[in-house]
Amino acid sequence: MVLDLKVVVVGAGFGGIGMGVALKRAGYEDFVILEKGDRVGGVWRENTYPGCDCDVPSHLYSFSFAPYRSAKQRYPGQEQILSYLRQVADDHGLTPHLRLNSALSAATYLDDLARWELTTTDGETIRADVVIFALGQLHRPYIPSIQGRDLFAGPAFHTARWDHHQDLRGRDIAVIGTGSSAVQLLPQIARIAGRVHVYQRTPQWLLPKPAREFGPVSRLALHVPGAHQVYRRALHRGADTLLAPIMHRGWSARPAQWFARAYLHRRVTDPGLRAAVTPDYPIGGKRIIFDNAYYSTLARHNVKLVTDPIQRIVADGVETVDGAHRRADILIYATGFRAAEFMVPISVRGRGGQVLQEQWSDGADAFMGLAVPGYPNAFLIAGPNSFTPAGSNPTMKEYQIGYIMECLRWREEIDAPAIEVGATAMARYRNWLQGAIAKTIWTGSVNSWFKHANGRVVNPWPGTTRSFARMLAHHPADAFTVVPAGTGIASKASADAEQTDRGEGASR
Ligand code: NAP
Repeated sequence: MVLDLKVVVVGAGFGGIGMGVALKRAGYEDFVILEKGDRVGGVWRENTYPGCDCDVPSHLYSFSFAPYRSAKQRYPGQEQILSYLRQVADDHGLTPHLRLNSALSAATYLDDLARWELTTTDGETIRADVVIFALGQLHRPYIPSIQGRDLFAGPAFHTARWDHHQDLRGRDIAVIGTGSSAVQLLPQIARIAGRVHVYQRTPQWLLPKPAREFGPVSRLALHVPGAHQVYRRALHRGADTLLAPIMHRGWSARPAQWFARAYLHRRVTDPGLRAAVTPDYPIGGKRIIFDNAYYSTLARHNVKLVTDPIQRIVADGVETVDGAHRRADILIYATGFRAAEFMVPISVRGRGGQVLQEQWSDGADAFMGLAVPGYPNAFLIAGPNSFTPAGSNPTMKEYQIGYIMECLRWREEIDAPAIEVGATAMARYRNWLQGAIAKTIWTGSVNSWFKHANGRVVNPWPGTTRSFARMLAHHPADAFTVVPAGTGIASKASADAEQTDRGEGASR
């Protein structure tokens, strides 16, 4: 049996839940949210490693319509974020729309019907007018294929697949990787482990996290009508003013780099360790980490930072290229995610059978990270180049959700079977985007999950959250075009002509 719906949202993290709330508020009832996991939560369901929390303040890392009013912690913990998302879903009546343990495997646009046919891994087929992919980027663990990986005799797992059955007390632990996850994890495990070896390939820039607790006075003050909004706005402005400029080369990043260097010097007194953890690339080249405990943990008697590259993994530990063998009972991969691959492993076919993954083989791109020419009535949340390393990603998603709702409204208003972003709007946007990225430090040689394997910067947004909002504050008709049913692959020339006739301008 084929299920017939108006809208299918894929993913129940911040993007999918926020989209569901917007649909409900607009009066949509005929939609489902497909979720591969058994609960809502996205990355905050997947990551349960000790110390997992968020280094963005809770009053910013939340929806504008659902404030954390009584948060005691300035930075929300993983469980707190998970229960916040569950609460938002409950409060807004999303539970009946959720289809948990239901992973999408394929999405195909049916040209004749101007509808999407979606297939789940358990064999269900759904047809829908509109599909919205809110898959997120940081949920498919990356485990490097280091020689001997399968020979390790003890427990070995990724930070996003934490094995809670393992007792780490008194054990020798190897942690591979020194990104955000490792930095949060290390202080927690070092307190109980026998010995921890941390294998660092590239040092990271760290900045301190301001005080963690909100006192009773601050909490009370945030209940004053309007105070929460003012505080949230101030946090946004602060991030846009202080953090966003770091992405640009030159003077604007210097104060942050001086500050980070001073912090490192204050916290790491041993000259050898200090040299080992000092990055040789500009701050912001990788996502900056906000933390207070990592540097002091590296100096603990039972923690050793290893900077010699890993040669191989053996049954009882890790060997480095200098010939050293370090024993380990437990091996933890804090090695990040397959973040530069978008929409994997879903097979997406658009107009005329075109295959999204083939189009994106050199790196994904999408108009404002939310729409791709040739894929009518299909939208993304947190698609390519819409991750902000300098602010609140739930807010970026809310801006995209607002724009997608405008697209749905416009499509209904003009009674169009389908709409898609035009080739000209996409080309103009792409031109602007590449120009903006060229002015950032991300194009430098340092490795990061911001980039595709070929070096193209595919993840971060090269501006402020406010500039993202400004560029989405246009009517969809400025960038989108109507696609009649029965339209296969239009030639680029005809698509361009179609839009020039409509006097289209880029949506910026
Ligand atoms: P990550 O930042 O991608 O770090 C992966 C680490 O693994 C890097 O140190 C990397 O070294 C290392 N690595 C990868 N392959 C290796 C190999 N073959 N040999 C040795 N080392 C290897 O991953 P993550 O720490 O999980 O964080 C990912 C993102 O998740 C963050 O940037 C952040 O956006 C998000 N996150 C956010 C929070 C938060 O508080 N908001 C918390 C956790 C995670 P190289 O640097 O040399 O590549």
